[in-house]
Order: sequence, then C-alpha cells, then structure tokens
Amino acid sequence: MTDIQKKLFEAACDAQKRAHAPYSSAFIGAAVLMADGSIYSGCNVENASFGGTVCAERVAIFKAVSEGAPKQVKEVLVVSDAEKPWPPCGFCRQVIAEFATEQTLIHTANLQGKMKTFAFPEIFPEAFTPKHLD
Ligand code: ZN
Repeated sequence: MTDIQKKLFEAACDAQKRAHAPYSSAFIGAAVLMADGSIYSGCNVENASFGGTVCAERVAIFKAVSEGAPKQVKEVLVVSDAEKPWPPCGFCRQVIAEFATEQTLIHTANLQGKMKTFAFPEIFPEAFTPKHLD
C-alpha cells in the first residue's frame, strides 16, 4: 500500500465501525481522495424502508461535495468485513462517474488489508457522464 492508500484504508476502517447496518449486517466503510488531497470517509447507513439506504461510497462522496471539496475524485477505497473485498455497487459506480477521471482508482479491501485495485474505467466502462449532456 502507498502512504495515501494507508490513509484511505485507515479512514475507511474508522468509518466502517460506525456503519448502521441492522438489516444486512454488512458493515462497510469508504474513503475518497479528492483532487486537492483531502480525504472524506463514510459508512453505509441503512434504513427500515430499505430504499432509503445509502452505501458508504456515496456517503463519502456526498460529504466531500457538501463540504466544498474539489469535485474530482482521484481514489476511492472501500472496505468491508467480508473476506473477499466487495466492489462498489452499480449506484455507487454511477455516482463515482460524476466526479471521476480516466485516472481514478478504485481500491477494494477487507479489514485485514487484502486489497485489489482497479482503474475506474475498467470496472465501469462506457459510463454515462456529464460529458453526454454537453
Ligand atoms: Zn453502493
């Protein structure tokens, strides 16, 4: 892991401990590195309606945007308590696409630090992005 990846992993693990997951018992944390070097984290927040549930990745990105971070995501790290690291779901990939570049990296990790890294276009090719609306 690079120093940045270690920071993202630590932030995601801290957030993972705060996950509100009484229905799925899937405790997820995420951390995003924004273009200015700032890091924001999030955990999944489930809801009794199920439809109101928001994943950790989206919580982290929404926090970054709402706190005024530059609207460009350089790296995303997702950590789950599953043995095999979980990748971002489709909804999260679409939200990441809004702020990603061709160079954005997605790291998936478990709590033991086993990590796999993808280039974002590799896991979400042909994404619908703001460029389509120009
Ligand atoms: Zn998701």
